[in-house]
Amino acid sequence: APTIGVLALQGDVREHLSALSGCGAVPVPVRRPSELAAVDGLVLPGGESTTMSHLLGVFDLLEPLRARIAAGMPAYGSCAGMILLAAEVLDGRPDQQQLGGLDVVVRRNAFGRQVDSFETDLEFTGVPGAPVRAVFIRAPWVEKVGADVEVLAAVPEVTSAGADAGAAAGRAVAVRQGSVLATAFHPELTGDMRVHALFCDMVRAALAGSG
Ligand code: GLN
Repeated sequence: APTIGVLALQGDVREHLSALSGCGAVPVPVRRPSELAAVDGLVLPGGESTTMSHLLGVFDLLEPLRARIAAGMPAYGSCAGMILLAAEVLDGRPDQQQLGGLDVVVRRNAFGRQVDSFETDLEFTGVPGAPVRAVFIRAPWVEKVGADVEVLAAVPEVTSAGADAGAAAGRAVAVRQGSVLATAFHPELTGDMRVHALFCDMVRAALAGSG
């Protein structure tokens, strides 16, 4: 079984660990460079991207993590994790650090203060069966994607996104570039493990590919 880390500096670490074990992976919290070196893939959880970015520096993880992502380690970011993986962030803090890996521009807290949280059902490419129930909590959206980025899910035209529904409709909220996956929402909170299962398959494929 693949060993999949969850960056455990801040955020909803426990929920990701349990979703990963539900998919047959061996989940481990990652706080040190030695722990990062031992995983086959890494989840960057939801939480607060500016705090996580700061703690990555404090824990000496920033450069090792950038290096592993650049070397092709599979990574999955949910919400704040998506922000960390993005090449560029709009409405971020000036000192916010990016890990790269995902050639996208995201807008932080994009859905607006009126709708800090909302839920909707999404069609998700690569997740067969019923739509995915997506929980958005002060979520980003993807504003621009590079040529190598695949949009896997977008907010439907009719949503419950309250006052900002017009602006939210059609926005990309799940993307993939090679072995990097990101969702603006939190599949770890719904008990539906299909998005984590997709990531576990990506990690298994990367392991098989590297022999
Ligand atoms: N708004 C948070 C940020 O900017 C992300 C929220 C989340 O991860 N639920 O990092």
